[in-house]
Amino acid sequence: MEYQRTLGDKVVIEGEGIFSGKLIKVELEPSEKENGIVFIREDLPYKPAIPLCIENIIGLEGATAITDGEHFIFLIEHLLSALHALQIDNLVVRVFGEEIPLLDGSAYPWVRKIQEVGYRFLSIPKKKYRVKRKFSYENGESKIIFKPSDTLKIKAEIYFEHPLIGFQFLEIEVNPWSYIKEVAFARTFGFKEILTERKNKGILKGGSLANALVLDKNTVLNPEGLRSKDEFVRHKVLDLIGDLFTGGKAFTGEIKVIFPNHRLHINALKNLFATDLIEKVESKALTFLLLPKKFKKKI
Ligand SMILES: [Zn+2]
Repeated sequence: MEYQRTLGDKVVIEGEGIFSGKLIKVELEPSEKENGIVFIREDLPYKPAIPLCIENIIGLEGATAITDGEHFIFLIEHLLSALHALQIDNLVVRVFGEEIPLLDGSAYPWVRKIQEVGYRFLSIPKKKYRVKRKFSYENGESKIIFKPSDTLKIKAEIYFEHPLIGFQFLEIEVNPWSYIKEVAFARTFGFKEILTERKNKGILKGGSLANALVLDKNTVLNPEGLRSKDEFVRHKVLDLIGDLFTGGKAFTGEIKVIFPNHRLHINALKNLFATDLIEKVESKALTFLLLPKKFKKKI
């Protein structure tokens, strides 16, 4: 029998919101009940709570958001990615604003904080979503294929006409160790022209080279350079691991994705959850009792 988990203690992180330009605090509070992941807009007087489930999710062009139809929290994907990969089932996420701070653009700051407090088992059997039969979804050039598997396996392909990117491919079986070593450090990336345009239009009020990799036509503008040559595809996998958690429970299946993006992931999942090709199962295997203590990759 595998049991559900929550965090060992409260985690607090603060950072600049790239949309609002405001300093936003996020508190992760352990939850003893089988409530899943619940987001709370802590900055609003009546503190609306929005549970993590696919009905409450929107896939936008460059982000994933959660909403109850009236209130929003944007950019939930990197936090969800860390929680999913580190196998946290129940948690209250108190957000003092309309977005999750981007921090360094990766999931590493979340992973480090979660490792500091560790986790606790709850005496509730763990439940997961498992793909029963093949399902595929396409949107223009982008495609995602789900197949049954008892673990989470991802194959991702990207192509960008840029000297630093081109074609990149990554295949990974996701568990806390592989995630920390291969995925968590990879930062989000954007192209200078598009970012400048969004800043001029007032869509982005914050954001700097501290929050993302920024590329011009030829190179990366961040003075420290890339953390790995294929940091781009690794970040796309990080995003997908986050989006696969939007059903509110751990996701198992073999997933192949070509030209991934949030809109593709979320629309595919909404369609998949509307079929009988996915089931909720109680996890029988007791796996990964301990989180790895040290990062193999130095940043
Ligand atoms: Zn991302």
